[in-house]
Amino acid sequence: MNRLNLTADVIVVGSGPGGATVSKKLTEGGKKVLLLERGGDHRSRFYYGTYPGALLYSEKMSFLFTEEGVNIVAPNMLGGATSMFCACASPPPEWLKNKYSLDIDIEVNDTLAELDIRPLPAHQLGTASTRIAEAAKALGYNWYRQPKFMFPAKRKNRKKDFKCGASCMLGCSCGAKWNAAEWVDDAAVLGAVIKTKAKVERILIENRQVVGVEGKLKGKMFTAKAETVIISAGGLGSPRILQKSGFEEAGQGMTMDSTVMVYGFTSEKGTGKEPPMTWSFENDADGYMLSTLTDPWLLYPLIAIKKGIGPALRWLKWNQMHGIMIKLKDDISGGVFANGKISKYLTKSDQEKLDNAYQVCRKILIEIGADKNTIFMTPIRGTHPSGTVRVDEMLDNNLQTNVKGLYVCDASVFPESLDRPTVLTIIGLGKRLASHILRL
Ligand SMILES: Cc1cc2nc3c(=O)[nH]c(=O)nc-3n(C[C@H](O)[C@H](O)[C@H](O)COP(=O)(O)OP(=O)(O)OC[C@H]3O[C@@H](n4cnc5c(N)ncnc54)[C@H](O)[C@@H]3O)c2cc1C
Repeated sequence: MNRLNLTADVIVVGSGPGGATVSKKLTEGGKKVLLLERGGDHRSRFYYGTYPGALLYSEKMSFLFTEEGVNIVAPNMLGGATSMFCACASPPPEWLKNKYSLDIDIEVNDTLAELDIRPLPAHQLGTASTRIAEAAKALGYNWYRQPKFMFPAKRKNRKKDFKCGASCMLGCSCGAKWNAAEWVDDAAVLGAVIKTKAKVERILIENRQVVGVEGKLKGKMFTAKAETVIISAGGLGSPRILQKSGFEEAGQGMTMDSTVMVYGFTSEKGTGKEPPMTWSFENDADGYMLSTLTDPWLLYPLIAIKKGIGPALRWLKWNQMHGIMIKLKDDISGGVFANGKISKYLTKSDQEKLDNAYQVCRKILIEIGADKNTIFMTPIRGTHPSGTVRVDEMLDNNLQTNVKGLYVCDASVFPESLDRPTVLTIIGLGKRLASHILRL
């Protein structure tokens, strides 16, 4: 069978924030970049940002579950998970620099300025979300306005007026949010070759030097050759490719910033139609983060039914639902395995952190007037699969594997749970890696 042959200076696999950043920066630096993305570009399609759309571009049509029944949302499309994210930006935790010598302060500050990252203006924070934050502050929890990759008033390519709400997590159809695919577009303008529907299966290695990758492009086998390869296929995708290429340690253990929602009902309008995560609270000492958020309308009953008929029936009052999301700094557990299975469970210490965070949410919801009997916590889910190809274990400080020229740059490299929005840190790591490669 005829095989397609491609060549480049650098091959990048995956177009989430990790892959998009290195592609843009390396192309700007004069490298001939080939970007291979397994998904398509759905941004201009009529279904982008709808429920059917979200099924189409998420792995296993959003029904991806771990062995323990934890649902993981993993978008496979140009832009990766930033195509469905809440656009929250958090600086990297201090321990990344202090404990692992990963200093990305310069790159992060550069990104804050480049993308004009800041909290939404007061009138767009949401009345119910602000009510939650004010109640929490009255109880002594120092909530802050969450900085956002979001520019509702001045996006150049904005198609409609700013229209946000829980459903913007299905894909931002109004263009108010930044998407990593925009940096792929920038790289393409500068000469990078972008191939969508290109699924990389295996890395080609000769004498401990990377020489390329192979896989299928629109169903047809291809080989791509380069002496530098950056795997940015995300917390699930990267360990899978590495395992097939002989790296048995890849995917042993995973973090996920395991997430639950705590809901309560009041007589007033809730958080569902407001931009998600406009206010947040971090408790690093106790290992959790809280934010305002309600699940999209159609998703809510699917999640709530697992807690019983009572919580599910409150779907009828979705408009009055007030949601607080808990993200846990979870321990490394389970993993992404070569037989296709994924496992993720909470350790005893994770469970203690969760119990503690739940009590705080409950107090806040009661403070805003929620009926105690309506408050409940959803099952655990994961939107940040990470830490599956950890720096310090599988990667050196420059994100290089023990094979020369083979790097990893995405959420899989985190050595521990970040317990905060990941994208700004991934961009920082991508800019740092690109500078390193350009200096070689
Ligand atoms: C609903 C939701 C809300 C979120 N909200 C926020 C938020 O507000 N702020 C924040 O910072 N983070 C948020 N996140 C998390 C964040 O979006 C991800 O952690 C981040 O995008 C991960 O980046 P990445 O570079 O690791 O890869 P990903 O974004 O996962 O992208 C990896 C890409 O690689 C491609 N790929 C996989 N395998 C292959 C292969 N074999 N060959 C070729 N391509 C492949 C995939 O199709 C995908 O496009 C959210 C995530 C979700 C799902």
